[in-house]
Amino acid sequence: MKNIKLAMPSLNAARMRRGNGVPTIRYTLESKYENIGAGKTYHIFTYGCQGNEADSEVMAGILEQIGYTKSTDPMNSDVVILNTCAIRENAEQRIWGVLGQLKGRKREKPDMLIGIAGCMPQEENATNKILESYNFIDLVIGTHNKGHLPKLIHDAYKSKMKVVEVLSCEGEILEDAPKIRESKHKAWVNIMFGCDEFCTYCIVPYTRGRERSRAKEDIIAEVEQLVKDGYSEITLLGQNVNAYGKDLEGDYTFGDLLYDLDKTGIKRIRYTTSHPRDLDEKTMMAMAECKSVMPQLHLPVQSGDDYILKKMNRKYTFEQYMTKVNRLKELVPDLALTTDIIVGFPNETEEQFQNTLKLVQAAKFEGAFTFIYSKREGTPAAIMPDDVSEAEKHDRLNRLNVLINEGYLNGHKRFVGEVVEVLVDGQSKNGEGMMCGYTPHLKLTHFKSDDLSLVGKIVKVKVTEAKTWFMIGELCE
Ligand code: SAM
Ligand code: SF4
Repeated sequence: MKNIKLAMPSLNAARMRRGNGVPTIRYTLESKYENIGAGKTYHIFTYGCQGNEADSEVMAGILEQIGYTKSTDPMNSDVVILNTCAIRENAEQRIWGVLGQLKGRKREKPDMLIGIAGCMPQEENATNKILESYNFIDLVIGTHNKGHLPKLIHDAYKSKMKVVEVLSCEGEILEDAPKIRESKHKAWVNIMFGCDEFCTYCIVPYTRGRERSRAKEDIIAEVEQLVKDGYSEITLLGQNVNAYGKDLEGDYTFGDLLYDLDKTGIKRIRYTTSHPRDLDEKTMMAMAECKSVMPQLHLPVQSGDDYILKKMNRKYTFEQYMTKVNRLKELVPDLALTTDIIVGFPNETEEQFQNTLKLVQAAKFEGAFTFIYSKREGTPAAIMPDDVSEAEKHDRLNRLNVLINEGYLNGHKRFVGEVVEVLVDGQSKNGEGMMCGYTPHLKLTHFKSDDLSLVGKIVKVKVTEAKTWFMIGELCE
């Protein structure tokens, strides 16, 4: 199969980029693409972070706008898109596995259009592998190109060639694109794209580009509309939300945005992810003063050792991290704090790992995503010497998880006997006649009920039992 290469990724080009001056584009659909999907179905596989979930909602919106209908059966869909993640090697391995299954199906159903989107196509190596060994893939779309989906699908059908469009330059900010949100009461709201931090282990600045903030007017208008549509909760998304506005004119910051969004009438505001260095006093004050900003924070620390933190290019120390945590706990005493931690960074010693365990105890995390360091081609850490064996890395992860799991349990135990407000998501997978949802502190709570009219409502639940991964309670009203 021949390829139409509209643009290819380059890690070197990505490294040279500057984020300033990225235009905002208002999405419009060219009339020639209307209804190209009429009578056809689509399925999107989503991997990785909340940013990808939000991108999939936009792709679904665009596909439905041009006539496609959602299907839960990928093997019988006309268009299948894999929205991929490149953050760790095991994320990628899973995706190559699904592609293997689709390859067999495509032989039986040659009209099936298979597209790969998201972060993997932004990696040079992955795109080259796709072009060389995965010839049955029809569409390769980068993270910056969602808005071009109607044209790309049209071109792929018309030409019967593989269409590759992966931009290494910054993608424009796309406003007004249609979205099919997964939930009717909780919504993702992107406030910025990309990352300028360049942590030495991380591929994101290369796959997602430099930081670009949406205009505050667009964000506030989106949230006002969500309130009108009956949504109760928003989660503001960005790789480093605390850097919001730095690339825009003026001195409007993330803290200002929280105060403004609090006035929209939305009941619950969460945000992720924060960079500890950029978490500022105004943001912490907003958490204390704005009723809608939930008393919960995900603040990735990655390591508790100053030397490793320096090698990671995280730009803070154990002390500085703890100073921020202590200040925030002064302002929000019941704060539920969670984090991300990487073990087995190149040449990490046992003593350095022990410093991470010390920090976990000092910060009293109530949960964490814990990872073994995964080498990402093209990042600075990939060429650092590493003498830590795989067995040792796994052992460190296990020892860390014992402490983290205690934190989860303690975070639940503190609510036993209390009445909490649960935003109900739906029926619980934990047993028949049970429903579940999340509290302001983001604690998953199950309670007895089969009243589906509660979905999307905030109900009062008395917590009776604490488990490691969730709480159990009784409905009060
Ligand atoms: N921007 C966020 C931050 O800095 O916290 C989230 C970035 S990433 C999507 C989520 C987490 O993946 C990171 O916090 C880090 O712990 C982990 N991660 C990133 N690169 C990794 C790598 N090469 N190996 C293992 N874990 C990694
Ligand atoms: Fe990756 Fe660091 Fe940016 Fe997070 S802050 S996305 S870990 S480079």
